[in-house]
Amino acid sequence: MHVPTFIERKRDGAELSAAEIEAFIQGFTSGDIPEYQASAWAMAVYFQGMTAAETGHLTRAMMHSGSVLKYPAGSPLKVDKHSTGGVGDKVSLILAPLLACDELWVPMISGRGLGITGGTLDKLESIPGFRVGLSEAETLAQLEKLGVAMIGQTASICPADKKLYALRDVTATVPSQPLIVASIMSKKLAESLDRLVLDVKFGSGAFMKTREQAESLAAALTNVGREMGVKTTHLLTPMDEPLGLTAGNALEVAESVECLQGRGPVDLRELTLNLAGEVSNVSRERLAGWLDDGTAWRKFVAMVEGQGGDAKVLERIAEHHRAPVLRDYLAPKAGILGRMDADAIGRAVVALGGGRSRATDAIDFAVGCSAIKKVGSVVEKSQPLLRIHARSEDSWQNVLPLIERAAVVE
Ligand code: URA
Repeated sequence: MHVPTFIERKRDGAELSAAEIEAFIQGFTSGDIPEYQASAWAMAVYFQGMTAAETGHLTRAMMHSGSVLKYPAGSPLKVDKHSTGGVGDKVSLILAPLLACDELWVPMISGRGLGITGGTLDKLESIPGFRVGLSEAETLAQLEKLGVAMIGQTASICPADKKLYALRDVTATVPSQPLIVASIMSKKLAESLDRLVLDVKFGSGAFMKTREQAESLAAALTNVGREMGVKTTHLLTPMDEPLGLTAGNALEVAESVECLQGRGPVDLRELTLNLAGEVSNVSRERLAGWLDDGTAWRKFVAMVEGQGGDAKVLERIAEHHRAPVLRDYLAPKAGILGRMDADAIGRAVVALGGGRSRATDAIDFAVGCSAIKKVGSVVEKSQPLLRIHARSEDSWQNVLPLIERAAVVE
């Protein structure tokens, strides 16, 4: 292909064909097309957008840039969830084993946290020994045995996305809807799913700040999924305050354990059941029953053991990783909690060491916030609004301005 013409056509608003897009993705993945040309093309897409058909072609080309999971004939339906990410969003840890109680296979490929958005893989890795790097053969073996595997993107799955995302990250082209759609859906579709539910978040702690933006992204994601033959539905959910009562890796695992044992905060349980209900064969009541009677918890324990994790630690994971400095942030006055800003809490968790500013940063599993009060709570003066788990005195002092910005008593 003549790459300058390909870039020029997008720059001038032409619609690219499936064959052109496929040749470009192949050339880019193999290294034949250099990054400077791919960057120019990504910027042209950023400004010109893509039609629904082009977005579909790009998704398909990226999905086929690597291997696609294959299952034995007659295996159960494959289902999964994708969330566009938020603060305190630990739903996957509960939802994946819960769905596997229902004769379904859940081959969940997740990502790491970047920026204020936490990542499922980081949370799982706070469990000592837990291996997210299963091979495809190991993943299949675990699906046969337990119906659920929670893994990271292998080198062979969607290499085009890995390369293109890294390039977008350094060329200011991440916030392009067609590029986001192709990136998310190529990875999910490489799981060869029958059903997919999308949790598209909007609000201060979400990728999409307004409901309108989230609606538009959800429609585009859903379209591509359906066009590729996957029963795809979505929920639009708010992310103005953290989900549940914790943000930070080990703290979130502890909260997930609570929820898997039939307890835990209402917002987390409700969202998990709502999402699970979208792809499950059984009723919401049945799913809730599996949280309450220990079925989902036992499935989670089996999965953790199956992936090399120390399940004995699960019920004391927060103590296992206990941060040396714990400080309560107190209400400056009596009133109603009017805001607990997810963005500011997310930034505080990253600053404490619980998230990444760059993809290569190490994670401190122990740090974060717990006992985060929910918006609308009536609070007394000097009542704790949240507890900060920090590595040092300096570290907690550092995030205080963010916490003061996050928590507003009216
Ligand atoms: N998540 C992804 O996987 N890709 C994007 O482009 C944005 C969010």
